[in-house]
Amino acid sequence: MPAFRAPRGTRDILPAEGPAWARLAAIAADLARRYGYAPIETPLFELTAIFERGLGEGTDVVEKELFRLETRGDEVSALRPENTAGIVRAYLEHGMQTWHQPVRLSTIGSMFRYDRPQAGRYRQFHQWDAEAIGDPGPAIDAELVELNARFYAEVGLTEVRARLNSIGDPACRPGYVAELTAFYRRREALIPEGDRRRVATNPLRLLDSKEEALVALNADAPRIVERLCATCAEHFAAVRVHLDALGIAYELEPRLVRGLDYYTRTAWEFYRAGAEGQQQALGGGGRYDGLAELLGGRPTPGIGFAIGLERVILALEAQESPHARPPSPGPAAVVVGADPDDTATRLRIATELRAAGLSVRADLGRRRLGRQLEGAAREGAHFAVIVGDELAAGNVLVRDLEAGTQRTVPLGGLARHIARGEAQHRHGVAAEE
Ligand code: AMP
Repeated sequence: MPAFRAPRGTRDILPAEGPAWARLAAIAADLARRYGYAPIETPLFELTAIFERGLGEGTDVVEKELFRLETRGDEVSALRPENTAGIVRAYLEHGMQTWHQPVRLSTIGSMFRYDRPQAGRYRQFHQWDAEAIGDPGPAIDAELVELNARFYAEVGLTEVRARLNSIGDPACRPGYVAELTAFYRRREALIPEGDRRRVATNPLRLLDSKEEALVALNADAPRIVERLCATCAEHFAAVRVHLDALGIAYELEPRLVRGLDYYTRTAWEFYRAGAEGQQQALGGGGRYDGLAELLGGRPTPGIGFAIGLERVILALEAQESPHARPPSPGPAAVVVGADPDDTATRLRIATELRAAGLSVRADLGRRRLGRQLEGAAREGAHFAVIVGDELAAGNVLVRDLEAGTQRTVPLGGLARHIARGEAQHRHGVAAEE
């Protein structure tokens, strides 16, 4: 047993998982490029006030899950539990209101929530975020739901379903919340004790609870979609028209409220069919028209989503997709040598091949040639470059480790020879000239 382990709720991403992560990041970056969402990076921590004001003090994320940093009398900050508040803070700080609107932004990074760890719920996890700030919608709402859905399709997840709701705005939500509060008050005895205080502090959170008692109770709860003001109802209808035009299927979910105070109007979540529990959302998003103002800016509409990348990998595994664990590609070549001690020449030749763009390793141990060749095969290299007596005449031997063939190649043509052979290997053809 080692003396130390990774902190509770965190996990190491080991080399074997690297290709799966790199693939998700590459797909996200490519989608961001195609849809015009420019890259942004904000700090891993922000002033605590940004989360308290933006996300809401009565929310679970701020009340219980915030990693507050001990800062020796300096500014009071906390690790970011999500990225929207930081991005809107950056939007205001850098005067992005003067840029062409909306400002479309994209980022991938770690988020931190001090929650009880369990399957699919970590204390440090990764999200891909896309945000469009400065457009009141409704068309941009549909663009983001579609982009969110497109990611799952491109990574290879099947049977992913969208749930959609509108949660109103400051004109209609307070009336609805009052009605909901009265509904729960009348049934207080049926509410699990630990949740009762929420009737007063945050009754919306009781709505999307997965607790049996509450699920039963919620079947009769008033529905916000039926109490939207005229402008919210019109907005929601228009979002749906746009989604229909894009051919995006969704279920209306009147109990979907999402956990943060800043959301207004359009809200959505994605689940895989048959995996629809509380810790299984693959991502979700919503409109946050009040957030900029909460952070001290002028009223600015905004909308965005976050996809949980650990959950996407878990879903690919559950689906037994080959994309859950794509193989790590071996090097194109390993440079080995007849003289075990001449590591300098092996390293020099490898360096030249790398400068030419090839993935090459040099065997830097001082082992016999036979052992070096075994190592090259174990690494999955296609070629072994063998440094021997031929070097005096400016040549090396190149062995095709799969075919078992070998030929003499001048150093000057080595990179070209290996590059050509690699390309042939990739297309499943035996290397020959
Ligand atoms: P949220 O901001 O809570 O809507 O989170 C957006 C997405 O991030 C969720 O749909 C999950 O996929 C993922 N996520 C949220 N919290 C966690 C967590 N503690 N561990 C892993 N993934 C998470």
